[in-house]
Amino acid sequence: MISVFGSANMDLVAYVAQAPRRGETVTGRAFRTIPGGKGANQAIAAARAGAEVTFLGAVGDDGFGAEIRDTLAVAGVNVEHLRKVRGPSGIAHIVVDDTGGNSIIVVPGANGTVTAPDAAERAVIAGSRAVLLQLELPLEAVTGAARAAKEAGVPAILTPAPARELPDELLDAVTLVIPNEHEAAAVTGESEPEAALEALLDRVPEAVITLGSEGALYGSRSGERLRVAAVRVEAVDTTAAGDTFAGALAVARSEGLAAAEALRFASAAAALSVRRQGASTSMPTRAEIDAALS
Ligand code: ADP
Repeated sequence: MISVFGSANMDLVAYVAQAPRRGETVTGRAFRTIPGGKGANQAIAAARAGAEVTFLGAVGDDGFGAEIRDTLAVAGVNVEHLRKVRGPSGIAHIVVDDTGGNSIIVVPGANGTVTAPDAAERAVIAGSRAVLLQLELPLEAVTGAARAAKEAGVPAILTPAPARELPDELLDAVTLVIPNEHEAAAVTGESEPEAALEALLDRVPEAVITLGSEGALYGSRSGERLRVAAVRVEAVDTTAAGDTFAGALAVARSEGLAAAEALRFASAAAALSVRRQGASTSMPTRAEIDAALS
């Protein structure tokens, strides 16, 4: 079983020719509500990639919370430990313009109420083959989950997004970090991915830097360095490519695949996801990933 200790949001997406300026009202083309949040996205990606997955986090007592819970459950994610707290669920208010550019406001809502894991949540983490973490929950909560994983000897895999400075207390408990190239630069201060990788390896045993259509770089403290190419596909929507990559990588590692094979598996899953629109709707099933690899 893989556990995900992370955020769950409702994405409120308005599509418009040009985003409004201050004081301006514009008529949009379309509006969609799409369950998201990096935690929920990674959980769905891992479940679709073939793992048993338990989600740890919180939604509010509103309609969005119920919808987020249903979406996770339908994807096969265990939501027994998903808390329902008073107040609103987390939302991301997203404006997408005709150039494909977007602007986003995230209101954490229930995600902001999550604290370090309690005894029941620690037991779930301790019983996992890996725990997936991101930075959309309060830092103390994420640090607590990473430390619970370390104490139990469970690998903690961290996507450092949204990017911020990472305290040693957190990184000391993390096995593998997976930033994209912008996050890697923000975290390390190194703009070249190769240099950022080395800087990350000063602090964690393993790191992957994802490079969009350029693939990914991997390194470990034991001296391994790998570069995997992205699978060539026609990109329709790269939303949650990184989350699909992280979820699939955790599945591959938990099945005992070595780094090179695990990266190939994750790259295939992420490439399949960019061929389809949306986040939770775009993640490939295990059968699709296996077919792409054969
Ligand atoms: P994020 O979504 O976090 O910004 P990236 O853009 O680096 O992360 O993408 C993560 C992974 O998804 C990449 O390492 C690659 O394997 C895959 N990917 C992303 N964009 C493409 C693309 N246009 N074609 C094929 N694979 C892609």
